[in-house]
Amino acid sequence: MENDPELRYPKLIAYLAKEGILSLGTVNKGRLGKDLKIPSIKDLKKEKVQRGYSEQWVANCDNTDIVTVMWYDNKPVILSSSFVGQESIETARRYCKKQKKYIQVDCPQIIKTYNQHMGGVEFLDSFLGKYKIKIRTRKWYLRLFHHLLDVTLINCWLLYKRVGEQQHTPTPMKQKDFKFEVGKSLCMFGVSINKKRGRPSLSDEIESKRQKPNTSILPPRDVRLDRFDHFPVWGEKRQRCKYPGCKGKTFLSCEKYRVELCLNKYNNCFRSFHQ
Ligand SMILES: [Zn+2]
Ligand SMILES: [Zn+2]
Repeated sequence: MENDPELRYPKLIAYLAKEGILSLGTVNKGRLGKDLKIPSIKDLKKEKVQRGYSEQWVANCDNTDIVTVMWYDNKPVILSSSFVGQESIETARRYCKKQKKYIQVDCPQIIKTYNQHMGGVEFLDSFLGKYKIKIRTRKWYLRLFHHLLDVTLINCWLLYKRVGEQQHTPTPMKQKDFKFEVGKSLCMFGVSINKKRGRPSLSDEIESKRQKPNTSILPPRDVRLDRFDHFPVWGEKRQRCKYPGCKGKTFLSCEKYRVELCLNKYNNCFRSFHQ
C-alpha cells in the first residue's frame, strides 16, 4: 500500500482499472488530497447554490483518468470513478422539505450510475450513515462485525427488493423496517411473525405448537430439520404423540430433543416430524 494516505484511494482506482476493473464509489473528502478544492457545505450554503449543483475534477494517476464529482443534494456527496463522470446531467425526483413537495433536481451521470448499481437512493443514503449500527466500541473486531452485519443486511434488503420486482409483488419494507424485521425474527426465533393467509402448513403448526406454554420441549425448526442424531428411543411410559393433529399415544421418542412421536402400522409421525 501507498504510504501517503491521500494517495491510496486514487492509486487503488488506477490499479483496478489496469486490471480491467472499472470502479465507482463514494469517497471521503479527506482521502483525496489537498490539491482538490472541494467546497465544504458552508461554502455551498454561502454561495446559495441550488440543490442538484455539481462540480467535476479530473486527475491522472498512473495513466488512468480519475473523475471526481461533488454533487450537492441535501449535503455534498462525493464520488470518484474511472469510467463515468458528471455528463450527461439528468434530473432526479427529490422531496423538498421546505416546499413540502417533490421537485426535480439536476443529477450528474455518476450518481445515476451509482444508484443504478446500488439499488436506489436509499442505498446511497445508507452509506451516508443512515441506519448504521451505532455501538461505540474500541474493539476493532466488534466494529468489523457490526460493519459486516450492516453490509449483509443491506445486501439482503436489495435481494428482497429484486425478488419483489421480478415476481411483481410489492416490497413495502423500507431498509429501516427490513432491518427491524430481521432483528425481531432473530430475537423471537421460531415465532411466526408473518401470519400466512389460508390454511397453515404443518410446519407452521409445529412452529406455533412450539410456542404454547408447557410444550417448550419442541425443538426449533433448524434443529428439527437438521437430520442429525435424531434416533428413536423407547420410553417407559406411553405418551401423547407431539405431532400436530395426531391423537395417538406412543412409547417412541426422538432422542435428540425427547419428543414423543408415533411410528406404527398406520402412522409415521416420527418421519413426518423431521421433514
Ligand atoms: Zn428429532
Ligand atoms: Zn403421531
